[in-house]
Amino acid sequence: MRARAAKVMPSSAFGHVGTALLPANYPQFFERAEGAYVWDADGNRYLDYMCAFGPNLLGYRDPRVESAASAQAARGDVMTGPSPLAVELAEKFVEIVAHADWAFFCKNGTDATTIARTIARAQTGRRKILIAEGSYHGAAPWCTPFPAGTVPEDRAHMLTFTFNDIASLEAAVAEAGDDLAGIIATPFKHEAFANQELPTQNYARRCREICDATGAVLVVDDVRAGFRLAVDCSWATVGVEPDLSCWGKCFANGYSISAVMGSNRVKQGADSIFATGSFWQSAISMAAALATLDIIRDGKVIEKTARLGQRLRDGLDQVSRRHGFTLNQTGPAQMPQILFEGDPDFRIGFAWTSAMIDHGFYLHPWHNMFLCDAMTEEDIDQTISAADSAFASVRAALPTLQPHERVLALFSARAH
Ligand code: PMP
Repeated sequence: MRARAAKVMPSSAFGHVGTALLPANYPQFFERAEGAYVWDADGNRYLDYMCAFGPNLLGYRDPRVESAASAQAARGDVMTGPSPLAVELAEKFVEIVAHADWAFFCKNGTDATTIARTIARAQTGRRKILIAEGSYHGAAPWCTPFPAGTVPEDRAHMLTFTFNDIASLEAAVAEAGDDLAGIIATPFKHEAFANQELPTQNYARRCREICDATGAVLVVDDVRAGFRLAVDCSWATVGVEPDLSCWGKCFANGYSISAVMGSNRVKQGADSIFATGSFWQSAISMAAALATLDIIRDGKVIEKTARLGQRLRDGLDQVSRRHGFTLNQTGPAQMPQILFEGDPDFRIGFAWTSAMIDHGFYLHPWHNMFLCDAMTEEDIDQTISAADSAFASVRAALPTLQPHERVLALFSARAH
């Protein structure tokens, strides 16, 4: 499949779903998925800790979501205008998300973050947007981490600061002066190739205070973390409400829909912009979203995934130590990042995840992972016991491990 793809698809698959930046034994094409598992094009089954990079929250093909989606599929999907489900879904979000007075639907996370940026500028009539250095907000020219094909002007009026560092935030605000349109914040630091970091309450509050004092718009990019930490915007966990929030990935359990939500404070800006897409009104995705929200509203999915994530974290800590490795397991337990201490070029992490793939466990050597509600304690315990033998084989091979050449090249090509 890869050889065929290389002939007819640029770089055989764009972005993080390509396997060029993964160990050689990683599958690139998947034939089907069910519950917590995926099957690759050769029929191998994996317990999937990537959850499609986030969209799988309840388990693949959750029957409750599938039946809502197929009922709508029998009635129509993309039509000449939105279905009444759009209004129902917006009403439901307004009920669930404390800061939201309205919701707008699109397809991908990049749509949502790009629209939020436009609304912040329309609302304020200003230009400067602040983002944390290294944060990921999507693949558009203003935010892509890979500069090929972009020009510096695509990032004009974008300023950066260091996540959780109030002094650097304030310095960027001072640089923006009276032209500050907004701050776009990820709910926690969750970028690739790095340890994750939760926000301090002081940092999150300072973002809010600055926006209140300057009239700038505070945006939380909850595309990755939304509904995995709170049945609300993720910054509810630190007591801060944004003006705008961006959502995507998991709220329709894998159906393609994203959203921008906002308070009435920025409604005028939102009313004034033009944003649309041929497939943004897909009623099937909205039916799937309504079903998913009904299931997750009681918070039990968050509780369970956090509990299973902690079980995994504790178990891996224990067995890795037995083999003389120290893991940096960071971020919320239900969205784990697992890196090895003393592994600056990721060669140990690559060897370990590569061994895990051979055991049938799809983990990632440099991107945060996700737990889903279909996982069981038995799944976690099997992961830990496979990890035990994977650590042993990495320990034995340690002197011969080499860094991955594409990863080394990537570090020098990254825009920021
Ligand atoms: N923001 C964040 C925080 C993300 O994690 C992602 C996707 N990884 C995006 C934006 C972009 O979403 P999409 O890939 O759906 O365009």
